[in-house]
Amino acid sequence: MKRVIHWFRRDLRVTDNTALSEAARRAEHVLPVFILEDALRTGPDVGAARLAFLLNSLEALRKNLTELGYQLLVHRGKSPEVLPKLCADLGAEAVFANKRYEPYAEARDQRVFNALNAAGVGFELFKDAVVWEEQEILTQAGKPFTVYTPYAKAWKLKAASAPRGRLRMLAHPQGSTFDRQCDLPPVDLAGIAQGLKPSPAPAGERAALERLRKFMCGPVYEYGAHRNFPAVDGTSLLSPHLRCGTIGIRTILAALAKAREAAVTPAQRQSCEVYLNELIWREFYLQIVHNFPRVTKGAFRPEYDELQWSDNQHHFEAWCAGMTGYPIVDAAMRCLNATGNMHNRLRMIVAMFLTKDLLINWQWGERYFMQQLMDGDLAANNGGWQWSAGTGTDAAPYFRIFNPVSQGEKFDPQGEFVRRWIPELASLPDQCVHRPWERPLGTGGSSYPPRIVRHEEQRLKCLAMFGAVKKTVRP
Ligand SMILES: Cc1cc2nc3c(=O)[nH]c(=O)nc-3n(C[C@H](O)[C@H](O)[C@H](O)COP(=O)(O)OP(=O)(O)OC[C@H]3O[C@@H](n4cnc5c(N)ncnc54)[C@H](O)[C@@H]3O)c2cc1C
Repeated sequence: MKRVIHWFRRDLRVTDNTALSEAARRAEHVLPVFILEDALRTGPDVGAARLAFLLNSLEALRKNLTELGYQLLVHRGKSPEVLPKLCADLGAEAVFANKRYEPYAEARDQRVFNALNAAGVGFELFKDAVVWEEQEILTQAGKPFTVYTPYAKAWKLKAASAPRGRLRMLAHPQGSTFDRQCDLPPVDLAGIAQGLKPSPAPAGERAALERLRKFMCGPVYEYGAHRNFPAVDGTSLLSPHLRCGTIGIRTILAALAKAREAAVTPAQRQSCEVYLNELIWREFYLQIVHNFPRVTKGAFRPEYDELQWSDNQHHFEAWCAGMTGYPIVDAAMRCLNATGNMHNRLRMIVAMFLTKDLLINWQWGERYFMQQLMDGDLAANNGGWQWSAGTGTDAAPYFRIFNPVSQGEKFDPQGEFVRRWIPELASLPDQCVHRPWERPLGTGGSSYPPRIVRHEEQRLKCLAMFGAVKKTVRP
């Protein structure tokens, strides 16, 4: 092939990029393109932190490509309209891209295929974002898994017998990539980025590789012990990179395999295994949204669409603002609002609190998270919310209800995380930092709000709410 457009989407990197390296292998000229669709910038699920991270990752990609002798074209518009036009202007015979698994992205890809096909241009999609796609890991009955543990077992079995995915580098092109002009106006990324706060975390492929290197040379060995403690820097923080594709899954797995080989104790090897399990959760939820697209609109277990949530707007606002009177919940929400990030343990705590203490529909929380999170990802976010609400695939039955006080005391025992985000409570003694309503007089904390609900009472209401639905479900 003479000319191929590589359409960058959630794969903003030059190494370990399947479609890009295929394009470089098969075409004389590779034309790298990114399309800034309106949905990436506006709409109910768009968040400033994620957009800033994306724009910075794009800038980093542009630099990396320039160093390799390629020029990144960024255009605005709808992909099914922009791509055929670009192909015609630049003389491209095909468009290559890495596959996406979310229902909306697949529908868009179908429209792109139709438009390119009508113009006589090829469209090839490659497996890249995951190790195993939605139809590659199935139960013995040939059905998708709906429970994580057997899925992870099957995932590992298949991985053990398969050759390890190759890490591919993008070579320098032979000649100039462009000798034709496209008359679509380019996008001023810096201009768009100006209106936003800076990206809350270092973006781009180099930052991702550096983060991976740091994590794999020490913290991975403590991951099993540290990963539940939000005051400790114990997790990889790679989720925004995995979401934007500034790092490839094969790169992470290769680094993990090396770390595991270098592990000295069984505990260290076990810790590497725990980390692998988390990466498998990501693929588990991606196959769920693909195989059960209804989860994007309602409960995985349809009977739970009948739940009578209370949907109290004042309570929702207090939750969003970190003003519920429960320190661990409020610290987590304030951290999310300020940084675009929240620790996994805290995501579970605040999600359970919203759904099972405030009795608010999980979809409200799902949307708020998408608006705030730098790593906001439809599949992982939906899976996490449904797991916490007890409406989802896995083993979080509705009667498992976290107590926000004991969760705080267990996972933030000295209140270090709470004090970091709630200065009003900084002077409270350890034993009441998670229950400020029991503080001794004169220890501060008077500007911190009282509890908006009582956990013990809400727990019973929650059980009744789920119980009412259970009764109406036919066995
Ligand atoms: C209510 C709720 C909402 C969530 N929303 C998102 C989201 O929008 N985007 C997102 O990437 N993750 C989401 N998660 C999963 C998890 O909280 C984050 O992936 C994790 O906190 C990211 O930090 P890390 O990169 O340091 O993770 P690490 O602990 O270092 O884990 C490594 C990687 O494994 C993957 N991973 C870990 N845990 C999970 C999980 N439970 N589900 C799916 N993948 C996982 C992530 O890609 C992560 O980067 C959510 C979890 C809950 C409970």
